[in-house]
Amino acid sequence: MTDARQQLIAGIRARFGERAVITEAAEVEPWLTDWRGRYHGASPAILSPASTEEVAAMVAMAAELVVPLVPQGGNTSMVGGATPPADGSALLLSLRRMNRIRSIDAESNLAVAEAGVILANLHDAVADADRRFPLTLGSRGSCTIGGLTATNAGGTQVLRFGTMRALVAGVEAVLPDGSVHDGLGALKKDNRGYSIDQLLVGSEGTIGIITAVSLRLVPAITSRAVAWLGLGGPQAALDVLRMLELETNAIEGFEIVPGDSLSLVLEHIPGTRAPLGEEYPWHALVEATASSARDEPPAALLERLLAPALESGLIADAVIGASEAQAEAFWRIRDSISEAERASGPATQHDISVPVADMPRFMVEAEREVEAAFPGARASAFGHLGDGNVHFHVHAGSRAADDWYEREASAVTRFVDDLVAAAGGSISAEHGIGQTKKAELERLSPASRMFALRSIKHALDPHGLMNPGKLVD
Ligand SMILES: Cc1cc2nc3c(=O)[nH]c(=O)nc-3n(C[C@H](O)[C@H](O)[C@H](O)COP(=O)(O)OP(=O)(O)OC[C@H]3O[C@@H](n4cnc5c(N)ncnc54)[C@H](O)[C@@H]3O)c2cc1C
Repeated sequence: MTDARQQLIAGIRARFGERAVITEAAEVEPWLTDWRGRYHGASPAILSPASTEEVAAMVAMAAELVVPLVPQGGNTSMVGGATPPADGSALLLSLRRMNRIRSIDAESNLAVAEAGVILANLHDAVADADRRFPLTLGSRGSCTIGGLTATNAGGTQVLRFGTMRALVAGVEAVLPDGSVHDGLGALKKDNRGYSIDQLLVGSEGTIGIITAVSLRLVPAITSRAVAWLGLGGPQAALDVLRMLELETNAIEGFEIVPGDSLSLVLEHIPGTRAPLGEEYPWHALVEATASSARDEPPAALLERLLAPALESGLIADAVIGASEAQAEAFWRIRDSISEAERASGPATQHDISVPVADMPRFMVEAEREVEAAFPGARASAFGHLGDGNVHFHVHAGSRAADDWYEREASAVTRFVDDLVAAAGGSISAEHGIGQTKKAELERLSPASRMFALRSIKHALDPHGLMNPGKLVD
């Protein structure tokens, strides 16, 4: 290990005590591999600050010794964003000890949470104050507020409430020189130039370390209803969504599920059952909510609004969950698709977006083109249709060789990314760039985007010490 890293570890230990640095290999090891198991990094230690002051001091010491740092929350990144470089040149900096909810102000509908607060814990805490933080995703039991902010995470409620960008009222962060940016003031209006808070949202740990976030809350739900629809195609799904949006603003979730994804879930996930009696090529899951006794009960609302679409044939069949347990069972099908796919063999995963109106055509045409270009492979897309964002997956097929992923993944990825670029879309709708998509970002971005990203990175982090090898160098 270089002297600089040893010096930093020793200096932090001397100043903040044993708890502030973990060097035991068995304790460091679990945090060196990404959630998908694709990257294996190395780090001689995990720095583990307990306060913003400690983060600031550690970052200043690292800057002086020129030691790179990799911020990490729950390590649920889908793009290897929180995995340190394999050469052990950087130290992990975990925010997990900073897990205090500093305040919940029900009157102002704001909560201030430290970066290491786990999303599910925030949900529980604000529920006690009769409020809701309206962002949720499959990793809610592990991912942290810092990680969610740094990746501008989305999830299943974006349709109504937006991504983290819309839900962040202010950010406190330690910048690469060790200074603290305090944006937690919750000012409704603040036009002092560039928004540093918003710059930090989606910055993937490359220009600073988020230590706390002021978050917007909404009233708690009083009831919800979840419907499962059988449909002929993605255009019918979008038509149903447009019809619902014209009539109500109570729709929170609208997820599209192809018939083959449903079959995979039924085959591989114990305890799941098909919601409808017949098989359909496509399905949609629709969630409506109410947050006051004055609101129309969501089940009645869905029944009233979906009936004409059933009569006209736009929807082939539909069922509204008769109980909370049935609603949960419908969501479980949607949330289990990735797990079921994993059990069914290798696949490449592409988290993409195109303009919402173009998504039905894109889904059908891109699937056809991919399957023609890679014989034997099967493409399918599912997810947040209303946000113009689907998870487009290409499966190896049952007769594929064991090394299919190693041989084909990068060619498939380039092919899909080219289709997305041609459709004016984004190769990363939700998960960020991390290390997985860095080369593709460079290949497909206009010069203006790379110029701006690089200029911001170099201006704020001139020595490249913040999360090296991710997003942009
Ligand atoms: C099962 C599953 C389902 C998911 N579903 C969705 C989904 O529906 N929508 C979606 O958008 N994403 C989804 N994700 C991925 C999502 O990006 C992460 O769950 C979450 O946003 C990352 O939080 P984390 O605390 O785990 O961050 P990490 O994985 O630890 O880090 C993620 C990135 O943020 C940086 N970072 C972390 N903490 C800080 C900090 N305090 N300051 C600065 N930088 C920091 C890291 O360096 C890294 O670049 C899913 C992941 C899983 C495993």
